[in-house]
Amino acid sequence: MNPELPPAISLSDQPEKYRRLLLAWFDGNKRQLPWRGRRTLYGTWISEMMLQQTTVKVVIPYWEKFLTAFPDVKTLAAADLAEVLSLWSGLGFYRRARQLHEAARIVVDQMDGELPREVEGWSALPGIGPYASGAVASIGLGLRVPALDANARRVFSRWLIDDPNSLADLKPAHLDQVAAHLVDDERPGDWNEAVMELGALVCRAADPRCSTCPVRPLCRAHLAGVVDRVPPAKTVSSSIKVRLGLLVIQWRDQVFLLPPASGPVVIPPDSNPPVREDISGLHGGLWGLPSTSWLPPSGKSTSGWPGHIWRSWMTGHPDLEYSDVEEDPVLLGSFRHAITRYRLMVYVYRLRLAEARTHGCENAVDVSKPQFQSGEFAKSIPPVLNSMRAGFLSIPSPNHPISNLVAKSLRLAANSSV
Ligand code: SF4
Repeated sequence: MNPELPPAISLSDQPEKYRRLLLAWFDGNKRQLPWRGRRTLYGTWISEMMLQQTTVKVVIPYWEKFLTAFPDVKTLAAADLAEVLSLWSGLGFYRRARQLHEAARIVVDQMDGELPREVEGWSALPGIGPYASGAVASIGLGLRVPALDANARRVFSRWLIDDPNSLADLKPAHLDQVAAHLVDDERPGDWNEAVMELGALVCRAADPRCSTCPVRPLCRAHLAGVVDRVPPAKTVSSSIKVRLGLLVIQWRDQVFLLPPASGPVVIPPDSNPPVREDISGLHGGLWGLPSTSWLPPSGKSTSGWPGHIWRSWMTGHPDLEYSDVEEDPVLLGSFRHAITRYRLMVYVYRLRLAEARTHGCENAVDVSKPQFQSGEFAKSIPPVLNSMRAGFLSIPSPNHPISNLVAKSLRLAANSSV
């Protein structure tokens, strides 16, 4: 063993040195965050659900609005799912919002509205995995349990490993044990937050700032000069390229939208099979525009998509008649969009319906409104549709959220001179 290195952390170690250095740094350097300033168990839970796979900066305004609308578990449970999705709109990963809402209803219906007081109770709720249960229980309840997110795993790996070749021996179960061993007895929540904060601000995946790190005298990867190889660079899971068409059907100042889980409604007769048949889960219960299926990239022009492929679907839809159409669909433009690992090239078409149309248009979408013109549109979208069924609907108005994909398409339509 290299005599310059501190002994590797084992379960027989005294972890006080790590705790003392890191907690002192945390006390002087932690970010002021609203859920830290107004600490409640409920607020901690909401913040942890929002923070998964999202940055703190993005989450802050969402957390503020969410807590204003739903200040406790009872108001959250009593809300319509659509309201919850509205306030989540733009955060992505909408499944988490649905699970949060479902968990709130379980708490109210089956637990007398009392949030769990032990980690097992949290683990039993929808959407709560080992990380979230540990984080909520330690931060919100002061229980001595670890919380290992990606930041914490990276930090602990660097504390432990001085030889990148031995990384394969560092099993997740061992990391879990070390993490549990290190949790501070008196300040478990602060300890877990401190580890994650160090990972976010100092011990970053790329360009770690070891020279300012409070734990560098104890960090084996730093002392061995192998930080940039611990953990090894991830093989980025390859993204999947997709192209699709979306149709903005306009009648005067109204736009036709479909309810959640409608999936692709138009299957273009391209020779290649769709990349993904069921896209409803990716849209997480949000309203959408009529869409083609998701197809692999093609060198072919997409200009053949509109008229003939949209027509059969429209003629079969009770709210639409192709005889209403004034013109063939026009390609307004395209944009790129990412949903999980899918990299979408979205072609947006517009179809204007004839003035003579008289039915199904009771609500208005005024695309000349300022919010349709601004880059803030996706953020301001939450209040959206005021009808429960597919049809020509108002934006903005309370109730139904739409996806960023739709927001981008409508913005493109609003800014189009075609
Ligand atoms: S010394 Fe560097 S690698 Fe080690 S914990 Fe600190 S920032 Fe991370």
